[in-house]
Amino acid sequence: MLKFFLLILFLVGVYLLFFRKNQQKPTKNDFKSTQDSIMLECTQCGTYVSNEEVIIKDGKYYCSKECAKLA
Ligand SMILES: [Zn+2]
Repeated sequence: MLKFFLLILFLVGVYLLFFRKNQQKPTKNDFKSTQDSIMLECTQCGTYVSNEEVIIKDGKYYCSKECAKLA
């Protein structure tokens, strides 16, 4: 019975260890972290632009209106 109790303690300890590690990482499910901008590559010139400034045309990403027109 004592061994069983120690096993439970061990499992809880391992669980808490992983749970704390997961808490330190920003989870993808956290919708509050949408302020983090994603860098997207311009299809035309290869310039990286944030998802807040990117221009989407025909399902492709462009850094500026000029690039979007050229494509
Ligand atoms: Zn571009």
